[in-house]
Amino acid sequence: MSSRQNLFCPEKLSYVQGHRPRVDCILCSAYRNEPGVENLIVWQSELFFVTLNLYPYNPGHLMIVPVRHTCTIEDFTEAEILSSFAIQRMAFAVLRQMYNPKGFNLGYNLGHCSGASIDHVHLHVVPRYQRELGFMDVLNGSRIIVEDPIRTRERMAEAFLRESEESLHSLKE
Ligand SMILES: [Zn+2]
Repeated sequence: MSSRQNLFCPEKLSYVQGHRPRVDCILCSAYRNEPGVENLIVWQSELFFVTLNLYPYNPGHLMIVPVRHTCTIEDFTEAEILSSFAIQRMAFAVLRQMYNPKGFNLGYNLGHCSGASIDHVHLHVVPRYQRELGFMDVLNGSRIIVEDPIRTRERMAEAFLRESEESLHSLKE
């Protein structure tokens, strides 16, 4: 994904070069809602939170993040493993409602040789769309993502709330 980062997200380049907010961990800071750190969290539980990506590859690009600061999935507890999959399923439902994607890419970048720019483990969920290539052609190799992140965050938080109430409901039945 690194070539795409450079192609589509020029701001991200300065981020990986070190011009990031001076905090120990950007995800822990976002979770604690610290000043100076963009908070794009759309849902949270005791174990995980879900946040929009500040530099999305596509509209609806999310990250599923354990609340606990850990740099590996190898020490996930049983509860975290189960919760992680339940949240992935919820994220698919939310993204289908909001964006009607035709596919998804999911992935972790783990460790310094993987392209990870943040140590704190996070699972990327990137919706894929049929017309992506058409847009690229039209815009001559660059992509503009037309979305107001604040409005997107509100809409998505509402969708996650509805979806999590529904999944709790269906568990009780
Ligand atoms: Zn952290």
